[in-house]
Amino acid sequence: MAGITYPLEYGGQGLSETELFIMNSEAAEFDLPLAPFGIGLDMCGPAILDLGDAQQRSRFIPPLLRGDEIWCQLFSESGAGSDLASLQTKAVRNGEDWVVNGQKVWTSWAQIADWGLLLARTNPSVPKHLGLTMFAVDMHAAGVTVRPLRDISGGAHFNEVFLDDVHIPAGCVLGGVDQGWPAAITTLRHERTNVGTRVRSRRAALSFDSLRDAAARRQLLADPLVRNRLVDVFVLERLSELVIEHVAEQTRSGQDPGPRGSVVKLSSAVAESEAARATAEIFGSELLGWDDSPELEEMTTALSVARRAGIAGGTNEIQRNIIGERVLRLPRDPYDNRGTPFQDLRVNTSPDRTGQP
Ligand SMILES: Cc1cc2nc3c(=O)[nH]c(=O)nc-3n(C[C@H](O)[C@H](O)[C@H](O)COP(=O)(O)OP(=O)(O)OC[C@H]3O[C@@H](n4cnc5c(N)ncnc54)[C@H](O)[C@@H]3O)c2cc1C
Repeated sequence: MAGITYPLEYGGQGLSETELFIMNSEAAEFDLPLAPFGIGLDMCGPAILDLGDAQQRSRFIPPLLRGDEIWCQLFSESGAGSDLASLQTKAVRNGEDWVVNGQKVWTSWAQIADWGLLLARTNPSVPKHLGLTMFAVDMHAAGVTVRPLRDISGGAHFNEVFLDDVHIPAGCVLGGVDQGWPAAITTLRHERTNVGTRVRSRRAALSFDSLRDAAARRQLLADPLVRNRLVDVFVLERLSELVIEHVAEQTRSGQDPGPRGSVVKLSSAVAESEAARATAEIFGSELLGWDDSPELEEMTTALSVARRAGIAGGTNEIQRNIIGERVLRLPRDPYDNRGTPFQDLRVNTSPDRTGQP
């Protein structure tokens, strides 16, 4: 099912958004092991198709679609998540190569990735959005160190990534030198649309179907509070599906959903967090004593990481800002340092400012 809308010449199936939508709807009935491939297929691949030249597309897309190469996204840093343009990882030109130094964090699947889509600063003397460049970086190159981060569920799917004098060939620049911000926006739009529309199994622990069945098995469905909460979950889940269908329809008719991808991402995250809240209310302290119930264990694990939907790929607050400013045309955030050269910002990037308040 990989690459349904990818071009035939790069190993895709050359089909339309309609077939993709049908496939995603059918696949939602099953638990499929898609997670490690999602970043490559939904974000990096579409970005390479948009930004890469013919050589880069031929090099990177076919192995991605075959599942031979896994990708990760090296954007966030400890001081640059929502304010991504403040990132400090540096890339300096050295002959035919770029030499990269810095640290990334929350990098999903870096521990098994072969390639990473990296955003790094190539020009600190211009405003922060103007001096960034996007690269494809070989995760097996000398100087790349990946350290897993364990989360509350006990799993460790995201990582810290250290880049120490990593050499990247000039041919791995994607979208042009100092053109990293528009390249990042292109990638994030794919991310936000696809994170929202990615196959979400109806068998997932926090889906309406699973919660209703678990409540029925415990004879809880006669309780009006339980029924009300289940209806809330159903309504938000269905609303989210309708938003996805609406944006998919726009894409099918050739329109770029642009910042409307944030509506998809937000509606999906809100549905998931409401499902988590309802789960806690319906099953209460039962969720703490799940030793003999795999069903409750699965629910508790899903509940413990449910907040990630409203953080990964840009937080709910950031999606609301984008919707306000770019979709509804409300005034911009009053704090705006877009005109200030990056090296003059108070983010400890310039030696004479280090340590100053
Ligand atoms: C499960 C998961 C997987 C991830 N995978 C990846 C990955 O593969 N690659 C990658 O690069 N990153 C990844 N991330 C990182 C993710 O993109 C960032 O966590 C996210 O962008 C938020 O950044 P932050 O954590 O630095 O929070 P901050 O930016 O520090 O935000 C802290 C709080 O302040 C709020 N806030 C910040 N600025 C504003 C504002 N202007 N207006 C209103 N509120 C604001 C935020 O909404 C949030 O509530 C992942 C994160 C998670 C949780």
